[in-house]
Amino acid sequence: MLEKKTQFIISVTPLVKIPLIRDQFFYYLADEKLPPGTLVSIPLFKKTVGGVVIESRDDFPRVGGMKLKKIDKVLELNFITKEQLTLAKYISEYYIISLGVVLKNFVPKRTKARSADYVACSMKHVIKDKIVLTDEQAGAVKKITRKGADKFLLFGPAGSGKTEVYIHSILELKKQNSDSQFLILVPEKTLTPQALERYGAYFPENEMALLSSNLSKGALFSNWQRIRSGEAKIIIGTRMAVFAPFQKLALIVIDEEQDMSFKQWDMNPRYDARTVAEELTKLYGCRLVRGSATPSIETYFKTQNKSYTLLTLSDSYHPKNSTAQKVRSTIELVDMKKERWVRNYSCISKKLKSEISYALKNNLQTILFINRQGMSNFSVCKSCKTVLKCPDCDRALIYSSREYKCPHCTFVASAIPNCSKCHGIEFRNVGLGTQKVEREVKDFFPSARILRLDSESNNKKDFQKEAYEKFSRGEIDILIGTQMITKGWDLPRMSLVGVIDADNMLTLPDFRTGEKAWQNLVQLAGRVSRPGARFPGRIIIQTYRPENKLLSLIVQNDYQLFYEQELPDREILHYPPFGKIAKLVFEDYNQKRVVNETERVYNLLNVENCALQITSPADCFVSKIRQRFRRQLIIKFQKKLPQKSLAILRSLPTGWVIDIDPISTI
Ligand SMILES: [Zn+2]
Ligand SMILES: [Zn+2]
Repeated sequence: MLEKKTQFIISVTPLVKIPLIRDQFFYYLADEKLPPGTLVSIPLFKKTVGGVVIESRDDFPRVGGMKLKKIDKVLELNFITKEQLTLAKYISEYYIISLGVVLKNFVPKRTKARSADYVACSMKHVIKDKIVLTDEQAGAVKKITRKGADKFLLFGPAGSGKTEVYIHSILELKKQNSDSQFLILVPEKTLTPQALERYGAYFPENEMALLSSNLSKGALFSNWQRIRSGEAKIIIGTRMAVFAPFQKLALIVIDEEQDMSFKQWDMNPRYDARTVAEELTKLYGCRLVRGSATPSIETYFKTQNKSYTLLTLSDSYHPKNSTAQKVRSTIELVDMKKERWVRNYSCISKKLKSEISYALKNNLQTILFINRQGMSNFSVCKSCKTVLKCPDCDRALIYSSREYKCPHCTFVASAIPNCSKCHGIEFRNVGLGTQKVEREVKDFFPSARILRLDSESNNKKDFQKEAYEKFSRGEIDILIGTQMITKGWDLPRMSLVGVIDADNMLTLPDFRTGEKAWQNLVQLAGRVSRPGARFPGRIIIQTYRPENKLLSLIVQNDYQLFYEQELPDREILHYPPFGKIAKLVFEDYNQKRVVNETERVYNLLNVENCALQITSPADCFVSKIRQRFRRQLIIKFQKKLPQKSLAILRSLPTGWVIDIDPISTI
């Protein structure tokens, strides 16, 4: 008689999308028990896919002789840690997204690093100066490192020495426990080399690991393994770093916490690394410090309701001289209406012109900032005033380098485009482009060395890095650019910032418009208010609406006033921090289908106790992309979505995108 071989039933979550109305795992057979988190390959719908083991148990009597397939191959035991598995389940539930899609982010491509890859993480060793912390800094370090797993907001202007507080907190916690790991999140991959250099001055190279999409697949995987083994202790990364297999996390730092890049808004899972980091603090019982010169309203609110401790750095700080004099920058508004009265039709006001010329004479550097958000740059037909639009998207074409291009898809109009209404062939370019500003500045200052840095010039690889290096070597006098230059550039000879079109920042119909404008402008101001600078920096903001309340608050640079002004509006309209938002977008080639489907779901959701408030379906701000029509619903709710609406969202058909805590409602 044949002895029956013991077999085990293994539940496996495949690393693919599974509709949320069904279980997020399938049963398979294996000859041995497999620990949760084990990476396997499995047969699924005639394909072989990767999967993660959720549970193993003894075979059970299967009704109707239910046939199970065998696990194809065991790839790596315990690849996903217990904490990672818990975190993945949390993200899947919170963001209402298939567990397999979430788990994919926890599984980097398993590949060997080429030896050249390691060069990417090697760093120049900076000579470490003896750092003297100010009383405020020392006090902050003391609070962060005391016993207990607390959450903090470190609030201090640019140049107040927030990084020194992070570094000294890590040094202290490392002294308390040498096995501890530390996660430093930065908003953009372009900022990781600078961070690596600063932290690299304090910690041995073999204890550091970088996690960002800059890295080759091999280097990323090798750093992933070094974090799991516990060898890597100081982990610097972009939002993706929250998925790493930490062993013993003691502190998470979120630098520039207000930055929207921490939220993945354009693909699933639409997670926010700041929310995920809070979950990590629960899993590891670790501390969290968010740092900013312009904290988000939501984070500052948390210090007011005491779920976060507020730590303030008020003074400018100079690492070698803690009593260095503060240099205050001044912010000034220029009314562009008045410029027109005196027949100045340039996009540069007389005031700004004279400041640029002063800076040039004194060998100081200038940044001219142009906001590209909204419809700042388009072309209209000369005879019938129709805007020239992309045929596939609801977006105005942008004229640059003698071509009309769509900002959303790859569409480029023929050299001589036709007006869609009257077939006219003459167009007038409206609005400000970086190129137009560049032309005017060149006319005014023919000998100045000018560099334009925008999304087009930035397409060239390493252009931004090159620009930064040129600028820091003093080879550029005037830099003209869009918002990307507000981040991370700390240069001593930069003394003037001109904001060419502040109004453009204030017109988007979104609840965060004011906050974003505030953050952008204050960040820009921070670029020229460095300690030890020879001249106080100047910020010139050009506007047609100098009476705007937000702009006048920016001139006063008083965060508390700004916060107190924003908060009541948020409360009345149930916006965060007083309520939560889910944005539901439906896309399809068939416009009628889009209208019907959004109407259907709206009616389903619009019953009692489903949410605080649901807006009726409306076209998205960009109502058509790549020939697909788009409509949206906004749901406002308290803390958690009610069960009823959750069930509806889980059963939405393909074509819907659910975005919990979206960065905007437009
Ligand atoms: Zn026309
Ligand atoms: Zn297009």
